[in-house]
Amino acid sequence: MIIGCPKEIKPQEFRVGVTPNAAREAVAHGHTVMIEAGAGLGAGFDDAAYIDAGAQIEATAKDIFAKADMIVKVKEPQPGERKMLRDGQLLFTYLHLAPDPEQTKDLMDSGCTAIAYETVTDKNGGLPLLAPMSEVAGRLAPQVGAWTLQKANGGRGVLMGGVPGVGPARVMVIGGGVVGTHAAKIAAGMGADVTVLDRSLPRMRYLDDVFGGQFKTQYASTGNIAELAMEADMVIGAVLIPGAAAPKLITREQLSTMKPGAALVDVAIDQGGCFETSKATTHADPVYDVDGIMHYCVANMPGAVARTSTIALGNATMPFMLALADKGWKQACEDDPHLLNGLNVHAGQLTYYAVGKALGIDV
Ligand code: NAD
Repeated sequence: MIIGCPKEIKPQEFRVGVTPNAAREAVAHGHTVMIEAGAGLGAGFDDAAYIDAGAQIEATAKDIFAKADMIVKVKEPQPGERKMLRDGQLLFTYLHLAPDPEQTKDLMDSGCTAIAYETVTDKNGGLPLLAPMSEVAGRLAPQVGAWTLQKANGGRGVLMGGVPGVGPARVMVIGGGVVGTHAAKIAAGMGADVTVLDRSLPRMRYLDDVFGGQFKTQYASTGNIAELAMEADMVIGAVLIPGAAAPKLITREQLSTMKPGAALVDVAIDQGGCFETSKATTHADPVYDVDGIMHYCVANMPGAVARTSTIALGNATMPFMLALADKGWKQACEDDPHLLNGLNVHAGQLTYYAVGKALGIDV
């Protein structure tokens, strides 16, 4: 099979769909890998690294779309890319079709078969191609929060780990899933005093068992959140209710009860944000002030560490990419029901129930 990887063209996107390591494996499986010139530069992979891995470099995205049997990307195809998709071509990337009727229509019109990273599942009920980005965003959250806490950035001027004789920063993490656990681990590793709040008792039992000495857990009642918010130097929002907008867990009124210059890092901003005063920001201008509380609300946090994110995503997508290339999408999906869950569009038909329900299209 010919596997093609164009350069990402969405603004601020520096990741790339195929790493040199993934290319090397695909070539070893007997496939041809075509990479658009310069596609890996944002993640620190030059064309020579791909050539060394046995891939071919193509001058333009047009060449890639014209020649490849399967397109492997990171972000959903942009309008110009969608025009280049062909009947029978396989597309493997993040799609997020539910809020995007135009993209859904274009994919159906193209006749391609589209497998979405975000709906591929695993045997534990998880989302293996979303998890790496949650891990990255979670680990990044205390790092950007610590920067936000610095005086020059509008923060309280508090050091995460304190110093001998001065106590550490107090960090509240709301939501103890993938993002929250990784955020708590890193914040605790920086020496902060960390409490994780969740509404799932089994999850808190797990966190207490595994991380008991490193951070505390508390039930995420409105009262506990309000009490801890008053003492917090940093609050990290990491909740998810699948398929729903994030619940608003800190109101604007509550900001006046918090310490001036405290940092709110709303990782759940891609689901609308879990603080009433959250609005999406960009890496170019990530932080804003509401009532003296500094808000960091970047919706694509993994983009800040494009190299780590690309490698983490590539590690997770590679086995699926190889299965699709080795067996063809039909056999690969027949053999693996979790990969089949990724199928969103095929031959002009929408094939994913939740997207159909959201967009009012028959599936
Ligand atoms: P997850 O499902 O692993 O964890 C979510 C946790 O939230 C669960 O443990 C759940 O019990 C808990 N929860 C639900 N409602 C709650 C409530 N009212 N109070 C307290 N806890 C509650 O999800 P995740 O992978 O950790 O993702 C968390 C959020 O981060 C999602 O919105 C995800 O889209 C977002 N995210 C954002 C970025 C970014 O760049 N901004 C990157 C990755 C993930």
